[in-house]
Amino acid sequence: MKKVFALLLILSLVFLSGCGHEHTWQEATCTQPRTCTDCGETEGEALGHSPTEATVWEPSVCSVCGEVMGEKLAPAFERHNIEVMDIADVPTEFFDGAPTQNPETRYLYMEPLLMFYTGNNSRKAGVPGYLCLMDYSIIESDENHEALEGYEWRIANFKVIFPDMSSGYQLAISDEDYYDIEGHDDSAQGSHYTVTWQGESYDGCVRIINFSSEPDYTVPVTGGFASNLIFLSKGVTVAFRVPVGYDGSVVCFRNSMYSFEPGQYIYDVMTPDDIFIRLT
Ligand SMILES: [Zn+2]
Ligand SMILES: [Zn+2]
Repeated sequence: MKKVFALLLILSLVFLSGCGHEHTWQEATCTQPRTCTDCGETEGEALGHSPTEATVWEPSVCSVCGEVMGEKLAPAFERHNIEVMDIADVPTEFFDGAPTQNPETRYLYMEPLLMFYTGNNSRKAGVPGYLCLMDYSIIESDENHEALEGYEWRIANFKVIFPDMSSGYQLAISDEDYYDIEGHDDSAQGSHYTVTWQGESYDGCVRIINFSSEPDYTVPVTGGFASNLIFLSKGVTVAFRVPVGYDGSVVCFRNSMYSFEPGQYIYDVMTPDDIFIRLT
Protein backbone atom coordinates (compact mmCIF):
# COMPACT_ATOMS: atom_id res chain seq x y z
CA MET A 1 0.00 0.00 0.00
CA LYS A 2 2.80 2.34 0.87
CA LYS A 3 4.47 1.65 -2.42
CA VAL A 4 1.38 2.58 -4.41
CA PHE A 5 1.02 5.81 -2.54
CA ALA A 6 4.64 6.70 -3.23
CA LEU A 7 4.16 6.02 -6.90
CA LEU A 8 1.09 8.25 -7.00
CA LEU A 9 3.00 11.04 -5.31
CA ILE A 10 5.80 10.83 -7.83
CA LEU A 11 3.35 10.80 -10.70
CA SER A 12 1.52 13.81 -9.41
CA LEU A 13 4.80 15.71 -8.91
CA VAL A 14 5.76 14.98 -12.46
CA PHE A 15 2.35 16.12 -13.59
CA LEU A 16 2.59 19.34 -11.61
CA SER A 17 5.98 20.21 -12.94
CA GLY A 18 4.72 19.67 -16.52
CA CYS A 19 1.84 22.15 -16.44
CA GLY A 20 2.41 24.51 -13.61
CA HIS A 21 6.09 25.61 -13.68
CA GLU A 22 7.03 29.24 -14.02
CA HIS A 23 8.08 29.68 -17.68
CA THR A 24 11.43 31.16 -18.47
CA TRP A 25 10.57 33.35 -21.44
CA GLN A 26 12.93 34.22 -24.18
CA GLU A 27 11.54 37.25 -25.97
CA ALA A 28 10.33 36.95 -29.54
CA THR A 29 12.88 37.36 -32.35
CA CYS A 30 12.57 37.86 -36.13
CA THR A 31 12.00 34.14 -36.67
CA GLN A 32 10.85 32.76 -33.26
CA PRO A 33 7.82 33.66 -31.17
CA ARG A 34 8.24 34.25 -27.45
CA THR A 35 9.42 30.84 -26.22
CA CYS A 36 9.97 29.15 -22.85
CA THR A 37 13.51 27.88 -22.72
CA ASP A 38 12.53 25.10 -20.32
CA CYS A 39 9.47 23.55 -21.93
CA GLY A 40 9.44 25.11 -25.38
CA GLU A 41 5.96 26.56 -25.06
CA THR A 42 5.40 29.57 -27.33
CA GLU A 43 3.30 32.66 -27.11
CA GLY A 44 2.34 35.07 -29.90
CA GLU A 45 4.17 35.18 -33.21
CA ALA A 46 7.64 35.80 -34.57
CA LEU A 47 8.33 39.49 -35.21
CA GLY A 48 9.46 39.07 -38.83
CA HIS A 49 12.57 40.67 -40.33
CA SER A 50 13.05 44.42 -40.81
CA PRO A 51 14.76 44.61 -44.20
CA THR A 52 16.88 47.63 -45.15
CA GLU A 53 16.77 49.03 -48.65
CA ALA A 54 19.28 47.39 -50.99
CA THR A 55 21.86 49.58 -52.73
CA VAL A 56 24.36 48.94 -55.49
CA TRP A 57 26.95 48.30 -52.80
CA GLU A 58 24.95 46.48 -50.08
CA PRO A 59 22.19 43.90 -50.30
CA SER A 60 19.06 44.30 -48.22
CA VAL A 61 19.72 42.96 -44.71
CA CYS A 62 17.55 42.65 -41.62
CA SER A 63 18.40 45.65 -39.45
CA VAL A 64 17.62 43.58 -36.31
CA CYS A 65 19.36 40.24 -36.86
CA GLY A 66 21.58 41.00 -39.85
CA GLU A 67 20.26 38.23 -42.08
CA VAL A 68 20.83 38.93 -45.79
CA MET A 69 17.41 39.37 -47.40
CA GLY A 70 18.22 39.79 -51.10
CA GLU A 71 20.67 40.81 -53.78
CA LYS A 72 22.54 44.06 -54.30
CA LEU A 73 20.97 46.39 -56.84
CA ALA A 74 22.38 46.31 -60.36
CA PRO A 75 24.10 49.55 -61.43
CA ALA A 76 21.59 52.17 -62.58
CA PHE A 77 22.62 52.06 -66.24
CA GLU A 78 22.03 48.29 -66.26
CA ARG A 79 18.69 48.60 -64.50
CA HIS A 80 17.52 51.07 -67.13
CA ASN A 81 19.01 49.12 -70.04
CA ILE A 82 21.03 52.07 -71.26
CA GLU A 83 23.67 51.00 -73.70
CA VAL A 84 27.07 52.19 -72.54
CA MET A 85 30.28 51.92 -74.47
CA ASP A 86 33.46 51.15 -72.57
CA ILE A 87 36.09 53.78 -73.36
CA ALA A 88 38.44 50.99 -74.42
CA ASP A 89 36.01 50.20 -77.26
CA VAL A 90 35.69 53.73 -78.62
CA PRO A 91 37.16 53.94 -82.11
CA THR A 92 40.34 55.93 -82.53
CA GLU A 93 39.59 56.64 -86.19
CA PHE A 94 36.62 58.32 -87.78
CA PHE A 95 35.73 56.22 -90.78
CA ASP A 96 35.92 52.69 -91.91
CA GLY A 97 34.50 52.07 -95.36
CA ALA A 98 34.30 53.67 -98.75
CA PRO A 99 32.73 57.12 -99.16
CA THR A 100 29.02 57.15 -99.94
CA GLN A 101 26.37 59.72 -100.73
CA ASN A 102 23.43 59.89 -98.41
CA PRO A 103 20.39 60.25 -100.72
CA GLU A 104 18.49 62.11 -98.00
CA THR A 105 21.05 64.81 -97.62
CA ARG A 106 23.71 66.59 -99.54
CA TYR A 107 26.54 65.05 -97.55
CA LEU A 108 29.20 62.71 -98.60
CA TYR A 109 30.44 60.55 -95.84
CA MET A 110 32.25 57.36 -95.13
CA GLU A 111 31.06 54.41 -93.11
CA PRO A 112 31.08 55.87 -89.61
CA LEU A 113 32.65 54.05 -86.73
CA LEU A 114 30.75 56.06 -84.16
CA MET A 115 28.00 58.44 -85.10
CA PHE A 116 25.43 60.43 -83.20
CA TYR A 117 22.89 63.15 -83.94
CA THR A 118 22.81 66.56 -82.44
CA GLY A 119 20.01 69.07 -82.61
CA ASN A 120 19.70 71.64 -85.32
CA ASN A 121 18.26 75.06 -84.67
CA SER A 122 17.43 75.88 -88.28
CA ARG A 123 15.94 72.65 -89.58
CA LYS A 124 13.98 69.74 -88.24
CA ALA A 125 16.58 67.18 -89.18
CA GLY A 126 19.34 66.35 -86.76
CA VAL A 127 22.94 67.09 -87.58
CA PRO A 128 25.22 64.08 -87.81
CA GLY A 129 28.38 64.11 -85.82
CA TYR A 130 31.19 61.59 -85.77
CA LEU A 131 33.28 60.88 -82.77
CA CYS A 132 36.62 59.29 -82.04
CA LEU A 133 38.93 59.03 -79.08
CA MET A 134 42.28 60.77 -79.29
CA ASP A 135 43.62 59.58 -75.92
CA TYR A 136 42.64 58.48 -72.46
CA SER A 137 44.77 58.48 -69.33
CA ILE A 138 44.48 57.98 -65.59
CA ILE A 139 46.97 60.09 -63.67
CA GLU A 140 47.50 61.37 -60.18
CA SER A 141 48.04 64.97 -61.32
CA ASP A 142 49.79 67.26 -63.79
CA GLU A 143 50.24 71.01 -64.10
CA ASN A 144 46.58 71.55 -64.99
CA HIS A 145 45.05 68.93 -62.73
CA GLU A 146 45.57 69.27 -59.02
CA ALA A 147 46.26 66.18 -56.93
CA LEU A 148 44.17 65.25 -53.93
CA GLU A 149 44.91 62.37 -51.57
CA GLY A 150 42.74 59.37 -52.41
CA TYR A 151 41.72 60.74 -55.81
CA GLU A 152 42.89 60.30 -59.38
CA TRP A 153 42.24 62.10 -62.67
CA ARG A 154 40.58 60.34 -65.57
CA ILE A 155 41.14 62.42 -68.68
CA ALA A 156 39.82 61.71 -72.16
CA ASN A 157 40.29 63.73 -75.33
CA PHE A 158 37.76 63.23 -78.08
CA LYS A 159 37.44 64.74 -81.48
CA VAL A 160 34.03 65.25 -83.05
CA ILE A 161 33.41 66.25 -86.63
CA PHE A 162 30.34 67.61 -88.35
CA PRO A 163 29.99 67.28 -92.10
CA ASP A 164 27.05 69.69 -91.99
CA MET A 165 29.03 72.85 -91.49
CA SER A 166 26.42 75.42 -92.36
CA SER A 167 23.34 74.41 -90.42
CA GLY A 168 24.52 74.83 -86.86
CA TYR A 169 24.48 71.97 -84.44
CA GLN A 170 23.38 71.72 -80.83
CA LEU A 171 25.58 69.22 -79.13
CA ALA A 172 25.24 68.65 -75.40
CA ILE A 173 28.07 67.02 -73.48
CA SER A 174 27.32 66.00 -69.93
CA ASP A 175 28.18 63.31 -67.43
CA GLU A 176 26.28 60.72 -65.46
CA ASP A 177 27.05 58.13 -62.78
CA TYR A 178 26.95 54.55 -64.03
CA TYR A 179 25.89 53.27 -60.62
CA ASP A 180 23.37 55.87 -59.51
CA ILE A 181 21.41 58.07 -61.90
CA GLU A 182 19.00 59.70 -59.46
CA GLY A 183 21.74 60.35 -56.91
CA HIS A 184 24.19 61.74 -59.45
CA ASP A 185 25.41 65.15 -58.36
CA ASP A 186 24.96 67.43 -61.35
CA SER A 187 24.28 70.53 -59.31
CA ALA A 188 25.76 73.62 -60.87
CA GLN A 189 28.22 74.49 -58.14
CA GLY A 190 31.22 75.29 -60.24
CA SER A 191 33.06 72.19 -61.27
CA HIS A 192 33.01 70.48 -57.87
CA TYR A 193 30.75 67.60 -57.11
CA THR A 194 30.26 64.59 -54.88
CA VAL A 195 30.50 60.95 -55.86
CA THR A 196 29.27 57.98 -53.84
CA TRP A 197 31.58 55.06 -54.38
CA GLN A 198 31.24 51.72 -52.59
CA GLY A 199 28.97 53.29 -50.03
CA GLU A 200 31.30 56.19 -49.20
CA SER A 201 30.77 59.81 -50.12
CA TYR A 202 33.61 61.75 -51.77
CA ASP A 203 33.13 65.50 -52.00
CA GLY A 204 36.55 66.31 -53.47
CA CYS A 205 35.54 65.39 -57.01
CA VAL A 206 36.09 67.81 -59.87
CA ARG A 207 34.61 67.74 -63.35
CA ILE A 208 35.94 69.62 -66.33
CA ILE A 209 34.17 69.39 -69.68
CA ASN A 210 35.81 71.55 -72.32
CA PHE A 211 34.47 72.04 -75.78
CA SER A 212 36.78 74.04 -78.02
CA SER A 213 34.84 77.17 -78.86
CA GLU A 214 36.59 78.10 -82.09
CA PRO A 215 35.56 76.29 -85.24
CA ASP A 216 38.37 74.15 -86.49
CA TYR A 217 38.40 73.12 -90.13
CA THR A 218 41.49 71.00 -89.98
CA VAL A 219 40.83 67.60 -91.36
CA PRO A 220 41.26 65.01 -88.63
CA VAL A 221 41.11 62.16 -91.13
CA THR A 222 44.21 61.04 -92.92
CA GLY A 223 44.65 59.43 -96.29
CA GLY A 224 42.56 58.75 -99.36
CA PHE A 225 39.25 60.30 -100.17
CA ALA A 226 38.51 61.47 -96.64
CA SER A 227 41.46 63.82 -96.57
CA ASN A 228 39.85 65.76 -99.42
CA LEU A 229 36.68 66.46 -97.45
CA ILE A 230 36.33 69.50 -95.30
CA PHE A 231 34.76 68.94 -91.92
CA LEU A 232 34.10 71.18 -89.02
CA SER A 233 35.93 69.55 -86.18
CA LYS A 234 35.98 70.20 -82.46
CA GLY A 235 38.12 68.95 -79.66
CA VAL A 236 36.36 67.80 -76.51
CA THR A 237 38.24 67.23 -73.28
CA VAL A 238 36.65 65.67 -70.25
CA ALA A 239 38.56 65.37 -67.00
CA PHE A 240 37.23 63.97 -63.76
CA ARG A 241 38.96 63.93 -60.42
CA VAL A 242 37.34 60.93 -58.76
CA PRO A 243 38.14 58.46 -55.97
CA VAL A 244 40.97 56.08 -56.85
CA GLY A 245 39.46 53.13 -58.70
CA TYR A 246 36.10 54.78 -59.41
CA ASP A 247 34.89 53.63 -62.81
CA GLY A 248 31.43 55.18 -62.83
CA SER A 249 31.90 58.37 -64.86
CA VAL A 250 29.81 58.23 -68.02
CA VAL A 251 30.25 60.92 -70.68
CA CYS A 252 27.15 61.66 -72.72
CA PHE A 253 27.17 63.07 -76.23
CA ARG A 254 23.62 64.15 -76.82
CA ASN A 255 21.23 66.12 -78.89
CA SER A 256 20.73 69.20 -76.76
CA MET A 257 17.21 69.76 -78.11
CA TYR A 258 16.10 67.00 -75.74
CA SER A 259 16.63 68.87 -72.53
CA PHE A 260 15.77 67.94 -68.98
CA GLU A 261 12.63 69.19 -67.29
CA PRO A 262 12.76 69.41 -63.50
CA GLY A 263 12.52 65.92 -62.02
CA GLN A 264 13.58 64.20 -65.22
CA TYR A 265 16.59 61.96 -65.56
CA ILE A 266 18.73 60.81 -68.44
CA TYR A 267 16.50 57.79 -69.09
CA ASP A 268 13.55 60.16 -69.62
CA VAL A 269 15.23 62.30 -72.25
CA MET A 270 17.72 60.02 -73.98
CA THR A 271 17.31 59.03 -77.63
CA PRO A 272 18.80 56.12 -79.56
CA ASP A 273 21.18 58.60 -81.20
CA ASP A 274 22.92 59.50 -77.95
CA ILE A 275 26.31 58.08 -77.12
CA PHE A 276 27.29 57.07 -73.60
CA ILE A 277 30.93 56.33 -72.88
CA ARG A 278 32.06 54.94 -69.54
CA LEU A 279 35.51 55.86 -68.28
CA THR A 280 36.48 52.47 -66.92
ZN1 LIG B 1 7.91 26.54 -19.73
ZN1 LIG C 1 15.76 39.70 -38.71
